[in-house]
This record gives sequence, C-alpha cells and structure tokens, in this order.
Amino acid sequence: MARPANDSPLEVNCPQCAKRVPWLPESTYRPFCSKRCQLLDLGAWADESHRISGSPPWMRPI
Ligand SMILES: [Zn+2]
Repeated sequence: MARPANDSPLEVNCPQCAKRVPWLPESTYRPFCSKRCQLLDLGAWADESHRISGSPPWMRPI
C-alpha cells in the first residue's frame, strides 16, 4: 500500500502512458496527463466497444 504523504498532492498514473499526474483541479484531463491521452483512451474505448453515429459533446473534433 503506497499512500502519498499528507503534504504531497495525490497523484495518479495516466491510463495511457503511465505518467504521474497530480490530482488537482488544474489537472484538467486527470486521470490522464493530457488531452491527447484522454482522447486516445476515449477513442480506443469507442472503437472497440461502442460505435457512435453522432458526436457527443465530449468527443467533438478539435
Ligand atoms: Zn498520458
């Protein structure tokens, strides 16, 4: 069990690239390290298990 110390921010590993991501409000894409990783993960999920005909707001192209 590896709990972070109370004086350091909680961190998670990006599900895409395993980079450490501080769990803070300014980490917009947590648990991902970046928008790129977030989109990659959502894209993989959508492609494998869920064909989407429309474009939900969270998957709008940039
Ligand atoms: Zn990442």
